[in-house]
Amino acid sequence: MSLSQIARSVGESVTLKLNETAALLREKGEPVIHLGGGEPKGRAPIDAVVSCSSLLHTGEVRYTPPDGIPALKKAIIRYTEEHYGRIVGADNVIASSGAKQSIMVALQAVLDPQQEVIFPVPFWVSYPEMVKLVGGVPVPVEARDGSFQPTVEEIAEAVGSYTKAIIINSPNNPSGVVYSEEFVAGVVELCEKHDLYLIMDDTYNRLVFDGRTPTNCYHYSKAHNLDSSKLLVVNCVSKMYAMTGFRIGWAVGNRELIRAMTNIQSQQTSGPAAPSQWAAVGALNGVQSSIESLRLTLENNRNVLMARLGAFPGVHVTKPGGTFYTFPDFSAYEKDSQKLSRFLLDKVRVVTVPGCEFGMEGHLRVSFCGTIKEITEGMERIQWALDPSAPNELYLGERRLVRDWQ
Ligand code: PMP
Repeated sequence: MSLSQIARSVGESVTLKLNETAALLREKGEPVIHLGGGEPKGRAPIDAVVSCSSLLHTGEVRYTPPDGIPALKKAIIRYTEEHYGRIVGADNVIASSGAKQSIMVALQAVLDPQQEVIFPVPFWVSYPEMVKLVGGVPVPVEARDGSFQPTVEEIAEAVGSYTKAIIINSPNNPSGVVYSEEFVAGVVELCEKHDLYLIMDDTYNRLVFDGRTPTNCYHYSKAHNLDSSKLLVVNCVSKMYAMTGFRIGWAVGNRELIRAMTNIQSQQTSGPAAPSQWAAVGALNGVQSSIESLRLTLENNRNVLMARLGAFPGVHVTKPGGTFYTFPDFSAYEKDSQKLSRFLLDKVRVVTVPGCEFGMEGHLRVSFCGTIKEITEGMERIQWALDPSAPNELYLGERRLVRDWQ
C-alpha cells in the first residue's frame, strides 16, 4: 500500500494502545493492575454532568462556533484571570477537542516543513509525533547530568536557525517533576530573545504537591500584552476535573495565532462537541472542591508509591512534585524498557509504560492515579517479579505463580 511519508513516520499512541491491551486482558478475566494509566478514576463533577444533560434534554445538539461556544470562552477567560492574573479577550481564546488538539492546531499554525520544535527529555509521548505530523522536526533536549530537567543553557544550545517553537510541560508527564521557577523564567526569556513560540502545556498545572503554588509563566514575560507575545498557554478539563472522555481543552494567546488556529480547526473538525463544551462550562463555573480533593488523593498516593519504590533495592526514583506519574529508573534490573514492561505484563499482569517512549531508556512510567490497593498490589507484584530475594511464589487472587526466572 502506498502511504504518505508522514503516515509512515508517525507511530501509534503507546499509552492508548496499552489501555486497549489492559481492557482486552481484563475482559478475558485476567487480574490486570493498570499502573500505566493517564487519567484520574473519579467521576466528573456534578455541575459538569448537570450542565451537559441540560443541553441533551433539549434534544437540540448543533454545530458550535469553530473556536468554542461563548459560554465556554467566558468561563476560560474567568479561569485565566483567576489562575494566571491575566485579563484576556474572547479573541485570545480557542476551545478545542482536548489539550491535544489545541497543541496540534498550534503546531499546524506556526510550523513550516523542516522547522524544529524543542522540548526537554523526558517528554510527553505525543510531542515528537505531533511535530512530525506537521512535517516538522522534533528536537528533544536531554539534561547532561541525567536529571529530568535540562538547564536553560542546554535548551539554548539546541536553538538554531530552524527552531520555531519550544514546548514546556510542567508538572511533567512522565516524570512528575515540577520545573524550577528559574528554568521557566529562563525559557520564557530565551523565547522572547529569539522570537520563538513557547507552548506552555499546563495540563497538570494545578495538580502539585508539598504546598507548591502552580507556576504562572506570564510572570516572566516582558511582553506588554498578549497580542505582542508568542506565549501560548494550553489547559484542559481532562485531568484536573477527571473529564478525559469529554475531550475539552483550550489555548490562550496572541489573537493572530488564535485566529489561524481557529481557521485550521474549523476545516479539520469544526468546533468541539456541544455537550462536552457545556460539561466544561459546568466544571469551570461550578463548585471547585473536586480539584482539591483529587490533588490531596494524588499526593497521598504519591507518598504511598514513593515508600514502596524507596524500599526497592537498585531502583532510583525522583520524587514527583505534581501530576500522577513517577518515572523510576529500573535499569539495574533491565536496560531495555520495552522488554521490561512486556515482562511485567506477561508475568504478573501489571501495566507500566516503557521509558523509551518518553525518550529515556531504562525507566518505566508508573502512574499513581489508581487506588491505594492497585498501587500497593501492583508494586508488590513488580518487586516479586524482579527481586530474586523475594519469596518464590505469589498469589494473584486464586492463581498461584511460581517464579521460574532469575
Ligand atoms: N499534554 C500532556 C502533557 C498530557 O499528558 C496530555 C494527556 N495525556 C495532554 C496534553 C492531552 O490532554 P487532552 O486529554 O485534554 O487532550
